Amino acid sequence: MDEILDGTTQIDCDILIIGGGTAGPMAALKAKRKNPEANVVLLDKANVKRSGAISMGMDGLNNSVIPGYATPEQYTKEITIANDGIVDQKAVYRYADECYGIIQELDQFGIRFQKDQNGEYDVKKVHHIGTYVLPMPNGDTVKKALYRQLRKARINIVNRYMATRLLTGEDRIAGAICVNTRTAEFLVVRAKAVIMALGAAGRLGLPSSGYLYGTYENASNSGEGYAMSYHAGAGLANLECFQINPLIKDYNGPACAYVAGPMGGYTANAQGERFIECDYWSGQMMQEFYDELQGGKGPVYLKLNHLAEETVAEIERVLHIVERPTRGHFHKGRGTDYRTEMIEMHISEVGFCSGHSASGVFVDEHARTTIPGLYAAGDMANVPHNYMLGAFTNGAFAGLDAVDYIKDVDFADFDMGEVDAEQTRVLAPTKRDDGIPPNQIEYKTRRFVNDYLQPPKVTAKMELAQRRFAEVRHDMENEMYVRDSHELMRSLEASTILDCADMAAAASLYRTESRWGLYHNRVEYERDDENWFCHTILTKGDDGKPAHRKQPVQPYVVEIDDDEKNAYANQRVNSTVAAE
Ligand SMILES: Cc1cc2nc3c(=O)[nH]c(=O)nc-3n(C[C@H](O)[C@H](O)[C@H](O)COP(=O)(O)OP(=O)(O)OC[C@H]3O[C@@H](n4cnc5c(N)ncnc54)[C@H](O)[C@@H]3O)c2cc1C
Repeated sequence: MDEILDGTTQIDCDILIIGGGTAGPMAALKAKRKNPEANVVLLDKANVKRSGAISMGMDGLNNSVIPGYATPEQYTKEITIANDGIVDQKAVYRYADECYGIIQELDQFGIRFQKDQNGEYDVKKVHHIGTYVLPMPNGDTVKKALYRQLRKARINIVNRYMATRLLTGEDRIAGAICVNTRTAEFLVVRAKAVIMALGAAGRLGLPSSGYLYGTYENASNSGEGYAMSYHAGAGLANLECFQINPLIKDYNGPACAYVAGPMGGYTANAQGERFIECDYWSGQMMQEFYDELQGGKGPVYLKLNHLAEETVAEIERVLHIVERPTRGHFHKGRGTDYRTEMIEMHISEVGFCSGHSASGVFVDEHARTTIPGLYAAGDMANVPHNYMLGAFTNGAFAGLDAVDYIKDVDFADFDMGEVDAEQTRVLAPTKRDDGIPPNQIEYKTRRFVNDYLQPPKVTAKMELAQRRFAEVRHDMENEMYVRDSHELMRSLEASTILDCADMAAAASLYRTESRWGLYHNRVEYERDDENWFCHTILTKGDDGKPAHRKQPVQPYVVEIDDDEKNAYANQRVNSTVAAE
């Protein structure tokens, strides 16, 4: 049992980085290198050595913009089109322009990228228009290599503290409140700047397996980045643009467009026919996937059984060794083999994640949020489709900018009453002798997310969701109880998930049009550029509930021709192609 201990410690630092997965470590490294005198703290609810989405390994960089293969203009165009035009291009362009430098740095860290006989990066085509996928033959070592750099740079690492609320004062960031996941002791961190890199909200929908932690996303990313930003008053963009992925059924891992696609694999219907032009994950592609299932041609499969033995063996090596060892065990246990049969896929649970879609805390091209001194990068910031290299690169931007920001500021004063209020909120479930355990609160919330918010979205269902969520909140606030500090962490996560569910429903109801394919398919509405060619920004209203506003899309820096705008809309192959 993880005993619940009393106690509060306060520490001060120049820059607090919350989340030591992908974006966070790069932010820390860049900040420390730019100003070695700065006191940089990297805090994680797990252990930075093995935390976050890349903890087990990655098969490649999904979106590298490498001179000779792609240009920043081309990439900016591609992401703009894939995201139905709702993109502030400056942030995408800056990423595209500078990500090559980050690749070279990662290369120097010892993360090897695939090269051809001439020693050039061996980039593969998966996207609809350009060529950006760079395989990583030893991608299983990515986190280890990153961690070595953190040690070398002497970054202060604080493990096993979960951030629960941001502190603000004087209209800017002041720090954060954190709870030890093993002892429940509090840590108040005063900071001149805070960088949030807490990853996706990966436990919003419930996987079809029913397992709370059987999510596609790293399961410790339960959405605190989104909830904390909301409670601190930051703006969150386009939360109705859900993340939904095509995954291996019951394993819930990538199927995988980025590995199998360039080697000749593809998504097929039950007849073994290819039905989508491009396996790149987009809302439009997911809509076709959904339509195929609804049209009675499902299940949908990953088709590799037409490939040569050497090709299948290589796909297995990458997916089962480099990326996720559990995947090989899964297929072995089930008795499925890529060589002899197609592998069943399905549609994942919904989540918030800009890494794969666009829903995130609003940031500009410097990773600045709407609160001075507060930054966000990686899956929780709203730079669309930015994946792992986007997390590294935008994390770097945040670290560099934060170092400049702290030059001119001291610690902001904040109200200690906020800390007291947070301690009361956090510890409330420990004060009860009996009641509802957090896992039941979480299960119920996420089941309602599936029942009522899973696209296609229907107004009456989403309104019902809001009523059900209010009932769950009442139960949570009055009856949730925990027995130890581990359950306390789960109770905090349950509360975050409920906040995210409320935001997902409110944002989805606000945008009265359909956009981004399946991600925001509202059955009663067509796409409506006249009224909705804009971002939606969600903030916490004066009544404590989500408030909304429209925000114009910034003028494009890369023009899109009229005949290019719908390139992602036509994802269905004209006549289905029988398996070779
Ligand atoms: C299964 C899978 C496969 C993928 N494959 C690829 C691929 O092959 N190529 C590619 O380019 N991209 C891939 N991606 C996407 C890529 O991994 C992510 O976009 C990227 O790693 C996100 O980085 P991040 O820093 O935002 O989040 P993460 O790396 O997940 O880091 C978030 C960190 O925040 C911590 N945290 C969460 N909540 C709290 C809290 N309350 N307090 C303190 N700490 C907290 C977590 O413990 C974690 O360490 C994949 C993603 C997944 C899930």
